[in-house]
Amino acid sequence: MKKGAAAPDTYISGMKRNSEWHGFERHVTNGTTAYYSNYYYAYLYFMDMACAINRGVSPQGYVGTVSAGCIGKCSCTVKGQCISSMRTAIQSKLRDTGLVCEDKDTGLVTRIASWSELLVGNSNNNSNKALFFYGTAIHVITDAFAHSTYYNGIRINHDSGADSVAHIPNRYKCAEYFTKRALEHILLFETGNVTDISCIMPVYDGSFKMGFLSSYVKAISLEYYNHNYTFLDRINID
Ligand SMILES: [Zn+2]
Ligand SMILES: [Zn+2]
Repeated sequence: MKKGAAAPDTYISGMKRNSEWHGFERHVTNGTTAYYSNYYYAYLYFMDMACAINRGVSPQGYVGTVSAGCIGKCSCTVKGQCISSMRTAIQSKLRDTGLVCEDKDTGLVTRIASWSELLVGNSNNNSNKALFFYGTAIHVITDAFAHSTYYNGIRINHDSGADSVAHIPNRYKCAEYFTKRALEHILLFETGNVTDISCIMPVYDGSFKMGFLSSYVKAISLEYYNHNYTFLDRINID
């Protein structure tokens, strides 16, 4: 699982061009927002994929069961197009034999990292591959607290300390709580749940906001949003 949690930064870096792997709020190519990247959907997608892989589904053969719509801001001509773009972006990196790697600087595909390389000494079986992608799910959601968070209305970028746990430390606390919630699912080889964000309610202190969170949650479950909008709208920033 730890290998999978570190893998996006090692093999598929670039939080903007690979938003799905790094919890980034928008998919940005060549400096332009291509679509709104629903990091909460990406978390649930990886959780669900991991759960399926443990049951014997292959990474390339996984057909997502998590559904989501577009958010109000998006300009997709076909409804749900941004979600299908996200799925395509994720699936394009998956091979049954391993993971498609990119050059850190150019973003060009370099090679396929084999499962034996990715799992580093752990046996190549369904449960270890599942744990790898559960780790990736944790990477995605914890990165969202690093990269898609705002302080005083401004997104916390790398220059202002996005990756520093000491900068607006409640981000780290919330990421920690979320990870604990995800681990409860992982111990049972379960999929994630749209309600998982509720786990930060007891610790969220209002010191930061998360980009488009309300829209992203609403796009996945209107019912859950409607029952929890007071809390979600308190964290949200558009
Ligand atoms: Zn990352
Ligand atoms: Zn869209």
